[in-house]
Amino acid sequence: MKRIIFFGPPGAGKGTQAKIISTFLNISHLSTGDILRKKLLDNDDLAKQLQSIMSSGNLVSDDFLNSIVSSRLKNEIKRGFILDGYPRTFTQSEFLNNFLLETSAPINHIFDIQLNFKILKNRILKRFSEEGREDDNINVIETRYNEYLNSTQKVSNIYKENYSSIFHEIDGTQQIHEITEKIKNILKKS
Ligand code: AMP
Repeated sequence: MKRIIFFGPPGAGKGTQAKIISTFLNISHLSTGDILRKKLLDNDDLAKQLQSIMSSGNLVSDDFLNSIVSSRLKNEIKRGFILDGYPRTFTQSEFLNNFLLETSAPINHIFDIQLNFKILKNRILKRFSEEGREDDNINVIETRYNEYLNSTQKVSNIYKENYSSIFHEIDGTQQIHEITEKIKNILKKS
């Protein structure tokens, strides 16, 4: 049973790897982006608010994310899970740490997939042509990347300092299967 966090800028491939590894380990893949995109389909007032925040590339409120994640994690805590896209802010990471402490369920691995902005931009534009995600357009990419630099990267740096033995930096320029192999090898060693 494993509890894992994936970090990385938008377009680095963390969602792809989180999906593959969750199937490999037979644990839940909790992608907060996917959960929020499902909520958009409700087409109610909340969906409209979320839509306007997400399509601009900004972050949805911490309170909302913390409540979504804690309600989902309650069911998965003992079986294991992969968090993809959360925590993204300092407040979220504090909430998660307290939640895991209370449930005596520490994180076992953190993978941080790294990729530079030029490659990310091209990948995200390609994803737009394939999937049509509204927040994958050129104007929004910069906002999303800046949210990453200003907030999420700082969070991953804190984990890197405090949890260095379980923190693994992964080169995101490699092929999907090469990254998967690298992650599986790390998982096998522990
Ligand atoms: P993603 O699919 O992870 O790139 O997320 C898509 C969008 O959902 C982000 O640009 C944010 O607007 C929102 N979102 C996803 N996860 C979070 C989070 N942990 N905190 C705040 N907003 C989030």
